[in-house]
Amino acid sequence: MSILINEIFPSIQGESNDAGYPTSFVRLSGCPLRCPWCDTKYAFAVGEKYSIAMICHKLAELSLQRICITGGEPLSQKNCPELIKTLADLNYKVSIETSGSVNIKNIDNRAVIVMDIKTPGSNHCCDNKIENLQYLKSGDQIKFVINDKKDYQWAKNFITTHQIIKKNITTLFSPVYNNLQPATMAQWLITDKLDVKLQLQLHKIINMR
Ligand code: SF4
Repeated sequence: MSILINEIFPSIQGESNDAGYPTSFVRLSGCPLRCPWCDTKYAFAVGEKYSIAMICHKLAELSLQRICITGGEPLSQKNCPELIKTLADLNYKVSIETSGSVNIKNIDNRAVIVMDIKTPGSNHCCDNKIENLQYLKSGDQIKFVINDKKDYQWAKNFITTHQIIKKNITTLFSPVYNNLQPATMAQWLITDKLDVKLQLQLHKIINMR
């Protein structure tokens, strides 16, 4: 059972509720989407085949308790759910970052899912799998990457329509790095009294990948 891996590396988690924790990242190759602000285009095609045992060995060497499965779109590879299960069996704290364009039904319940809802600026709204919302559990998170006021209004309408805040799922609004000033969006959130979390990409602020 092999998986195409772009890179495995230790860093500081820059996003989600785990921001700030030392974390091992497993970046899987491939993504069916092409968001204009994508900062991991290098993972679209380049990768090396690893067995799940090889991945576990590498992670054991890094020896961090938190593991983030990311991409690309990690779920574009069919063996990703088995990798998540194996890591959860090994008692790691596992999270997975997904674009929301792939079904998440079979992800092991012990893993925290951080799922994008694609905004209009991504050009991929039509790829959001709305049925995924029913599979999110308490502790999971959804993330809107916001490029401008239009994206913000769209995301605000989305969480109201789908009653996201009532589902005990953290909602993250993340301004596109260098496109939308965080302070601008902070003011929108305060004005609208929106109970969502402004997320900055900590790894970029401290200049780590
Ligand atoms: S879904 Fe993520 S990895 Fe894929 S193109 Fe968009 S930002 Fe990049």
